[in-house]
Amino acid sequence: MNLHEYQGKELLKSYGVKIQEGILCHTPDEVFEAANRLRTERNSEGCVVKAQVHAGGRGKGGGVKFAPTPEKAREKGQDILGMMLVTPQTSAAGKLVRKVLVCEDAYIPGASDPKEFYISVLMDRAKKCDVIIYSTEGGMDIEKVAEETPHLVHKEWIDPLLGLRPFQVNKICFNLGLSGTAFKEMSAFVTSLYKAYVASDASLFEINPCLKTSSDTIIAVDAKVSIDDNALFRHPDLEAQRDKDEEDPTEVIASEADLNYVKLDGNVGCMVNGAGLAMATMDMIQLSGGEPANFLDVGGTANAERVEKAFNIILSDPNVKAILVNIFGGIVRCDRVAQGVIDAYNNIGAINVPIIVRLQGTNADIAKKMIDESGLKVYSAIELKEAAELVKKVLS
Ligand code: GDP
Ligand code: MN
Repeated sequence: MNLHEYQGKELLKSYGVKIQEGILCHTPDEVFEAANRLRTERNSEGCVVKAQVHAGGRGKGGGVKFAPTPEKAREKGQDILGMMLVTPQTSAAGKLVRKVLVCEDAYIPGASDPKEFYISVLMDRAKKCDVIIYSTEGGMDIEKVAEETPHLVHKEWIDPLLGLRPFQVNKICFNLGLSGTAFKEMSAFVTSLYKAYVASDASLFEINPCLKTSSDTIIAVDAKVSIDDNALFRHPDLEAQRDKDEEDPTEVIASEADLNYVKLDGNVGCMVNGAGLAMATMDMIQLSGGEPANFLDVGGTANAERVEKAFNIILSDPNVKAILVNIFGGIVRCDRVAQGVIDAYNNIGAINVPIIVRLQGTNADIAKKMIDESGLKVYSAIELKEAAELVKKVLS
């Protein structure tokens, strides 16, 4: 589950990580008020208006704007709120901006120049431990830095039993070229950041930029936070922050029905039990000249109710020209699944796309007979090859 920047920053702050302070706003008038408050309470003359959507690269898409006065901030708020923000990480249509975070200006020149760093924490699957990735070249082009000057991106792996050790923290601060107050500040920042990452069962913390201000304070200016879905039951406070507006609506319906569904761009819907079989089915669709419209794993209990829900989800995609049901009846008997398909078909009514059902396993022959005799516009197959031929036939 992804958090918005404002939620991620609050989470960091609760673990003692210093952040660029901000106020969440939903209207241009609220933006004006917030800018005024940051002036009086935080002594920040200008402010930054930042679109809150689940996508990075907002600055490049015009979703992060500096405003020297509260009046200007209101104008920026007007521009950004309600816009379809297109960034390198969104679709071409972009994402609707429903709220903005109005932040104090953290880049005020002073005793020393502000400097942007990059710091992230994530799991290194190959090394089976967490890794802190960091660089002196923070800001909006870290992907380019990683590609063109990879020696400027450092990694520190963390032993899961020993945790992050002080010498590792020192090494990070040293490699970032810090000394004095900024060194101490960065030590505290990295230590608290890793503590927050572990305690919240996160799968990603990306702080870019992490800023050294002109007074040598280290703060998080941006925060991209993902929490491991499998651990959400331990964090009801975080789960409550889930913003379903940011997620694909059919994927939300599917996850509520406990179906593993990922929408894709093709024309053949698939309903399969088991992730491995689902992948193989998608390959087979591709080989027979179609493109999978989705990944959908109905799981072990492919009963009528789940089959019906799955049909509804697949059919809500207007690109779907055919549906391939590929179910292996191991624990669940094929005749039960066939009855589920027939019931779902009758309940939904008016299904205009051809459905190819391939049931293999216990009672597969009975299942095929039931479907063939149901009088519905459903093609049945037992062999995968037959099913592939049918897909090809109905698409042509
Ligand atoms: P992203 O583009 O989605 O990663 O959004 P960020 O939160 O990283 O903001 C983008 C850029 O806005 C940063 O890299 C900064 O250059 C700039 N920015 C953010 N906060 C401030 C600020 O307080 N003052 C100024 N002048 N620029 C800021
Ligand atoms: Mn950023």
